[in-house]
Amino acid sequence: MQPAELSAVDIVAAVRQGDLSAVQCAETFLSRIEAGNGSINAFLNVDREGAVACAAKIDARRRAGQPIGPLAGLPVAVKDVLCTANLPTTCASKMLEHFQPPYDADTVSRLRQADAIIVGKTNMDEFAMGGSNENSAFGPVRNPWDLSRAPGGSSGGSAACVAADMAPVAIGSDTGGSIRQPAGLCGITGLKPTYGRVSRRGLIAFASSLDQIGPMARSAADCALVLETIAGHDPGDSTSLVASVPRYTELLEQPLTGVRIGRVPDHFAEGLDPEVAKGVEEAFAVLKAAGATVLDIRMPHAKYGVPTYYLIAPCEASSNLARYDGAHYGRRCEETAARKGSRASNGAIAYDSPLVEMYCRSRGEGFGPEVKRRIMLGTYALSAGYYDAYYAKAMKVRRLIRQDYLDAFEHVDLIGGPVSATPAFKLGEKTGDPLAMYLVDLYTVAANLAGIGGISFPCGFTKSGLPIGFQLQAPALGEPLLLRASDRFQRLTDWHLRRPKKSVR
Ligand code: GLN
Repeated sequence: MQPAELSAVDIVAAVRQGDLSAVQCAETFLSRIEAGNGSINAFLNVDREGAVACAAKIDARRRAGQPIGPLAGLPVAVKDVLCTANLPTTCASKMLEHFQPPYDADTVSRLRQADAIIVGKTNMDEFAMGGSNENSAFGPVRNPWDLSRAPGGSSGGSAACVAADMAPVAIGSDTGGSIRQPAGLCGITGLKPTYGRVSRRGLIAFASSLDQIGPMARSAADCALVLETIAGHDPGDSTSLVASVPRYTELLEQPLTGVRIGRVPDHFAEGLDPEVAKGVEEAFAVLKAAGATVLDIRMPHAKYGVPTYYLIAPCEASSNLARYDGAHYGRRCEETAARKGSRASNGAIAYDSPLVEMYCRSRGEGFGPEVKRRIMLGTYALSAGYYDAYYAKAMKVRRLIRQDYLDAFEHVDLIGGPVSATPAFKLGEKTGDPLAMYLVDLYTVAANLAGIGGISFPCGFTKSGLPIGFQLQAPALGEPLLLRASDRFQRLTDWHLRRPKKSVR
């Protein structure tokens, strides 16, 4: 049996049956990481020893007839924004390059509790700010479908490692699209659950009213399996929902007959790549053939999503990232010039005190350019005299966007559409133009602003062989239907089974 070809559902079943040992499974994926990571750069840290030791314990327990967890033997890659007690957690930033958390994030401890095997930490945009993975302080991730292209971001490493069969499952985080967009550009399935569905204890905060953790895998059924383990209330995160966790894997069977799916004609306006538009329309046709009804709906405020998001997210980021000052948290600069007694001369900045110099230089040296841009944007928008014009206004528009969804969900059960306006773009193509990079989030930010769930999965390929993503969104806690509709689509199509050519893996 070749574990790299198996779904997560099959891996877990094979380990449980004794047809596949957890060690053999871990070894297979670890060898694939060792062979492929040099070209893809999806992992920042790999824990070969820990993963094999954990797998050996699971095998021993199974052989001894002792109980094993629901994810026993399943290798999982974790985005480097989630704290891990046995591995550094860098957020792909120089600021946290040597940070070793003292505890596991709630998601990570739930995975361990379920006997999943954490194989390593994945590359990302620094502090999850970006849509191409090019903002990583440790080099960009390459898209396994075409190494000259971006995998999307910010969970680019998580998406690329699943697409390249280096892990059957990865964990990502999504503040404005960071699970769904890279999943779409890498041809895998990614679920952003409802705000609060998964605890964020141990998730390094970017924008706290938007951040959510979710699974990325090759299929909706695999996402359902992982969500069952990571979802649920956590007293350590007061924003985690007190709501029971359904058995998502058992709710996939029901057909789509009678399910109403909204289609937003504005999504197909100027700017949408024609091949993407075609793939998305064909996906609607498949869902219709599966029994769903497709209805055109209006989302009048959707066009304000990107400007609203790019005020609220930087405002929250500027506050969350204030803690990285070289004293409370984060990398501290080398000894300050002022302390050495050589106060600014020859044109160097004159700092008020050694302390101020230490703060400024620690932050200046530790953060990359995009993170600094967000901190400045957020600080400006929150400052006295501007707060009402920017932050308060954005919060009002956020409310209107949420209302659009509430109104739409009076008439439809799901909303479908593109996840990204173009297929994977070239590395370097948008790095000189922050606005062009922000616009890649056009179709994804609204779900975060409204706090609802969304899923993305492949619905076709361009002529040049790049994956096209389809997005479904559901009302709060609508994960069972999101997963069921996506799973139904995947039973009827085989886009999700395609793999990048061996030569580029
Ligand atoms: N691309 C968006 C941003 O740069 C979304 C990032 C995310 O979801 N973490 O903020």
